[in-house]
Amino acid sequence: MSEPVLSVRAVRKVFRAGRGTNVVLDDLSLDVTEHEVVVLVGASGSGKSTLLRCVNLLETIDDGAIYLEGRHITDPRVKPDPVRQRIGIVFQSFNLFPHLTVLDNVTLAPRRVHRLTSGQARSRALALLDRVGLADKAAEYPDRLSGGQQQRVAIVRALVNAPRLMLLDEVTSALDPELVGEVLALIRDVKEQGMTMLIATHEMAFARQVADRVCFLDRGRILEEGTPEQVLGAPREPRTRQFLQRIV
Ligand code: ADP
Ligand code: MG
Repeated sequence: MSEPVLSVRAVRKVFRAGRGTNVVLDDLSLDVTEHEVVVLVGASGSGKSTLLRCVNLLETIDDGAIYLEGRHITDPRVKPDPVRQRIGIVFQSFNLFPHLTVLDNVTLAPRRVHRLTSGQARSRALALLDRVGLADKAAEYPDRLSGGQQQRVAIVRALVNAPRLMLLDEVTSALDPELVGEVLALIRDVKEQGMTMLIATHEMAFARQVADRVCFLDRGRILEEGTPEQVLGAPREPRTRQFLQRIV
């Protein structure tokens, strides 16, 4: 068996709220193997975003360890930036720089981080924009694009660094319903290309299509996991059933 791309081991994350504490990730363990797409589902507040943020080192963990390609990235001596360069992350809000064109948004990171020449970064970015049908938007500013187009640019920006792992957090939640499909189609395409992904979503139909494995998060724990057919079609746990009844 090859080593997992991502290994989350007994992670605990606590937010302190006033005098109380809120245990948001509770002894959570999860592996994602190469080319695997793992989808996190669960009620709002169950810890999905926090888990993705911990993997990208945007939050520090209180116990446990996270490994990326076997390397212990939550060791306090590890510098976050080189780790983040190997992970692509896309959030609910598109987070494009409004004062930069589409092309400059996409090429900013590879130029800065990978020290590509601007010509190299440009041809790589244009090839990717072309693949997602947005080559003709390269010179536009984000506010001239639809929400779906902006989110596709954000995904391209994450892909241009050739990450080892992509993290997607509710990437369709801010979109008008008619724009959701084009973003989901792009993510399916990224899966087809073999990308390893950890995805938080409340789009159950999408989870069924794209997931190799679904994990149901409940109060910071993985209560149930399995194939989409198992977890979404025939859940064992009453809380999973409750959640699925509420959401459809
Ligand atoms: P989900 O993405 O599944 O909706 P989150 O990971 O966003 O869940 O939140 C899990 C819990 O952590 C919630 O109770 C939320 O209020 C809390 N939380 C998230 N971020 C912070 C923060 N920066 N400070 C304090 N509490 C937070
Ligand atoms: Mg969230």
